[in-house]
Order: sequence, then structure tokens, then C-alpha cells
Amino acid sequence: MNKKDLKYFEGLIQDKIQKIRKDLDHFGENVMSGTNTELSGDLSAYATHPSDQSSGATEREYAFMLASKEGRFLHHLNEALERIKDGTFGKCRVCQKKIGKTRLEAVPHATMCIQCKSEEERLKRERR
Ligand SMILES: [Zn+2]
Repeated sequence: MNKKDLKYFEGLIQDKIQKIRKDLDHFGENVMSGTNTELSGDLSAYATHPSDQSSGATEREYAFMLASKEGRFLHHLNEALERIKDGTFGKCRVCQKKIGKTRLEAVPHATMCIQCKSEEERLKRERR
């Protein structure tokens, strides 16, 4: 995938992230006590578990977000941004082939091409 395409998908993903963060704001503002505009803000205000020192604010923040469907989606989108950075974006993690652009536009955080995905779905159904 060339730079122009990566830039395009980066923008697409960032738009989605912004939108979800907005959605999550009203959901999290009680917990985050005013830091709701920036999720990477200081969350120590609600660090009520001193025994939980090993997991930093970031992990706690994720745990909090992962509790919701939007949060999980956000997590996947952030991972997609990481893949844009390390150059593995748009590559199927099973067969290493390119994932179609149309598919990535619909599902920018996709890690599998449509063939591998449907194969996985098929295997899942058979296992049941
Ligand atoms: Zn594949």
C-alpha cells in the first residue's frame, strides 16, 4: 500500500476514533472527573485500588473502555493506527496478501482478507 493510501486510511481511522471518543465522553465523564476531552489525561483521580499498582493508568483506562462495545472498537482502531505506523496495515495476518481497499474502507481495523475471514467464520460454524 502506498503512502497516499496509508494517509487516507489514517485519516479515516482518526475520524472514527474522534467520533467514538465523543460518544464515550458522556459515558465516562463522571469517572474521569473533567479529563474527558483527552483520554490520555491523568486518571489517578480514580485510582482507588492501591493493590493494583502494576497496571498503570493506561491499562485501567483501557479496562474501563473495553467494558463497552465502543471501547473495544476504539481499541481495534488504535491497533490499526499502530499497523499503519509499522507498515503491516492492509495485510492479511493469515495469508499475508493485501486486504481489498473496499473492505478496509468498510472495516478499517480488519486484519484478515475477506477469503480468510469467511474461512474462519466457516470453521467457527463447523466447530459449533
Ligand atoms: Zn488472507
